[in-house]
Amino acid sequence: MKSRQTRQKEVIEEEIRKTKTFFNAEALLEKVAKVDKKIGIATIYRFLKDARERNQIYSYTCQGKTIYSSTKRSHCHFECTETGKIVHFELENLDFLKDKVPGEIESFQLEVKGVFQDK
Ligand SMILES: [Zn+2]
Repeated sequence: MKSRQTRQKEVIEEEIRKTKTFFNAEALLEKVAKVDKKIGIATIYRFLKDARERNQIYSYTCQGKTIYSSTKRSHCHFECTETGKIVHFELENLDFLKDKVPGEIESFQLEVKGVFQDK
C-alpha cells in the first residue's frame, strides 16, 4: 500500500506533467487541491525544491516571483524601458551560446531591455 506522501507526490507530479507552460507554487497548489484537499503549500514547496535538485523541473524568476516549468528550458523577457511593460518570448535554439559557455546548457533566463516599436 502506498503511503500518503507517495500518493500526494503522484498527484503533484501528474499536475506538473499536464502543465505545459510556466507555473508558480500557488497555481500548482490550486490545481492539486482539486484532487487532494490535504496537500498544503509546504508540501508543494518541498516537492518543487526536490524536483529542481533532481533536474526534473527548471526554475526562473519572473517579476520577482519564482516560476517553474518541466518543459520550458528558457525564460525570456523583453522589457520596455519607457513603459516597464514586459513581454515573454521563446528561444529554443541555443546554438549562439554554444561556444560561450563551458558546459552543457540545461536551462537559461534572459532579460532584454529596449523600447517597444510599432510594427
Ligand atoms: Zn517572466
